[in-house]
Amino acid sequence: MEMKYNKVTDEVLKDLRGIVGEENVLTDKETIKLYSSDEAPIGLEATAEVVVKPKCTDEVSDILSLANEKMIPVTPRGQGTGLCNGAVPVYGGILLSLERMNRILEIDEDNLMAVVEAGVVLSDLRLEVERRGLFYPADPGERTSFIGGNIGTNAGGMNGVKYGKTRDYVLGLEAVLPNGKVLNLGGKVVKRSMGYDLMHLIIGSEGTLAVVTKAILKLIRLPKIFITLYVPFSNMYDAAKSVSEILREKVTPTAIELVEREVILEAENRLGKRMPHHDADAYLIIRIDGDKEEELYGDAEAVSEICLSNNAVDVLVADTKERQSVIWDIRSVFYEAIVKSREADIVDAAIPPSKMPLYIERIKKISDEYGVKILSYGHAGDGNIHVHPIKDGLSDEEWNEKLPKVMMKLYSEAKNLGGVVSGEHGIGWTKKKYLPICLDKEEIRIMKEIKKIFDPNNILNPGKIFDA
Ligand SMILES: Cc1cc2nc3c(=O)[nH]c(=O)nc-3n(C[C@H](O)[C@H](O)[C@H](O)COP(=O)(O)OP(=O)(O)OC[C@H]3O[C@@H](n4cnc5c(N)ncnc54)[C@H](O)[C@@H]3O)c2cc1C
Repeated sequence: MEMKYNKVTDEVLKDLRGIVGEENVLTDKETIKLYSSDEAPIGLEATAEVVVKPKCTDEVSDILSLANEKMIPVTPRGQGTGLCNGAVPVYGGILLSLERMNRILEIDEDNLMAVVEAGVVLSDLRLEVERRGLFYPADPGERTSFIGGNIGTNAGGMNGVKYGKTRDYVLGLEAVLPNGKVLNLGGKVVKRSMGYDLMHLIIGSEGTLAVVTKAILKLIRLPKIFITLYVPFSNMYDAAKSVSEILREKVTPTAIELVEREVILEAENRLGKRMPHHDADAYLIIRIDGDKEEELYGDAEAVSEICLSNNAVDVLVADTKERQSVIWDIRSVFYEAIVKSREADIVDAAIPPSKMPLYIERIKKISDEYGVKILSYGHAGDGNIHVHPIKDGLSDEEWNEKLPKVMMKLYSEAKNLGGVVSGEHGIGWTKKKYLPICLDKEEIRIMKEIKKIFDPNNILNPGKIFDA
């Protein structure tokens, strides 16, 4: 589709000020620049013409109606922690920041549900519900992200093995269409069978179909006890092999994270904290939760035995809050430890967990074949591993020549093993070219038709997922 957008004129700025107030229409160039990027390791150069910060659903609706009428692109933005340039305003226009819509509207303890605005920070929600003995388990590593952004990307995270991903906790959505109409989807019910599920279509649509303004989220009881196992291995293959064997046991850990040594060392340096062990080549970090101490330690025993039978060097148990915090704090900086100190890219493939050892072997082969260093870590229990090709030792020319080939190969190998090109980060702008590896033409055609129904003028987050 030919895209012909109009600019944000003084008249449009005046209308926007009329909707959200003078102070919530930002036109300062430096500020706009800050809002125009996310955390993708290879950023896209693009800037919005204006940042607009609505306070309520009616304001979002008025902004979208105006933009739709004037043919101005709108990019919804949460906290901008996305990793594939999803919230970057590729065609300029309006950057719609949901940051002022940050109220937790209700914690419904009778139904174990929370009603929140889209700009609520994930860690704020978690703290608020934990205070009442409740738990919101969807847990992307970046807890400063917004619930709206988590819904936009269907965020996964560390707790996925036992508790799943964001989609599994969304029961209802309020969302505004590009024409300004407000949809109320789902509700405080745990079952529904009423035709096509538009709510689930919007979850994970990366701000291309509607702007999410509110959500009804499922909560569960907060488990009473958590323990963490920290398991060194002499190689990534043995660690990965243990993962599929653990999953076959009748034990479901909350989290099973896999990481190689160099990432641990970089993360320790970044944070100034030390893991209990860092001399082995690979590690599993496993969290188990529950209410009964005896059962929990029985599960830990079963998991330890599997690891030891797969040549684990040792099994270290962290059962105090402090010891566990050190391990998980270091885990939370793996991404920045790799990408903030050097040039790197990221692959977010998900494969059947049982194929993880094979994928690990293939990653090594690709690294050797192309002479490109690769570091990996990630949510191995979900079969979702973050693989980082790294520029170290390569000239600009070599890097630019090799990186696209290595990326394509890493994604293609994931597909060959029955996997997908994104487990949790989404497609955004960065991964558009890899989408056809996994989706056939008919699937992409249907997606494009759906986009046209929701957004006939293609004003909402254009240039993302595919070219409409
Ligand atoms: C250190 C680090 C660790 C991370 N770990 C994980 C992880 O473990 N698991 C994981 O899944 N992700 C992870 N991420 C990626 C990121 O945190 C998630 O994708 C998160 O869901 C993005 O939320 P956000 O509020 O920052 O959204 P943004 O980056 O602002 O936006 C993401 C996408 O959602 C859309 N969007 C935002 N708000 C709305 C809305 N209200 N309505 C409609 N669309 C909207 C945007 O247009 C964009 O396409 C990590 C990122 C970092 C930097």
